[in-house]
Amino acid sequence: MPDDFSSYEALIRAAGLRPTKQRMALASALFADGNRHITAEELHKEVSSYRLPLSLATVYNNLHQFTKAGLLREVIVDSSKTYFDTNTSPHHHLYYENEGRLEDIQSDNIRLRQLPELPEGVDISSVDIFVRVRSNPTG
Ligand SMILES: [Zn+2]
Repeated sequence: MPDDFSSYEALIRAAGLRPTKQRMALASALFADGNRHITAEELHKEVSSYRLPLSLATVYNNLHQFTKAGLLREVIVDSSKTYFDTNTSPHHHLYYENEGRLEDIQSDNIRLRQLPELPEGVDISSVDIFVRVRSNPTG
């Protein structure tokens, strides 16, 4: 269990948030080991070993605040499954339906040949592609 979360203070301050102990603990769990996709429930389970009271509601609230501040990207797979992605750069996802797991696809690995004509007065803010896969019993 990590004891020193202070290295995340600058990151949280730079995002315009107050570096509370709880936020620093969550940032440590999220950002210590490279990019990851994690649900609020998974993160809550992970930080339950920390000597810090962190309810699931607190985890949820902070994940949404981190997302709003640009530290995370919310990836909604379907109405019952939302992941938080530490990779905030533009990219797509491979979704393993059997395992409930996401993997990044670099945006230049998918080429879009055509997009619909847009109504007047709107611009594309992003194009997010999910390639959903399931295990193939013959493979
Ligand atoms: Zn991702």
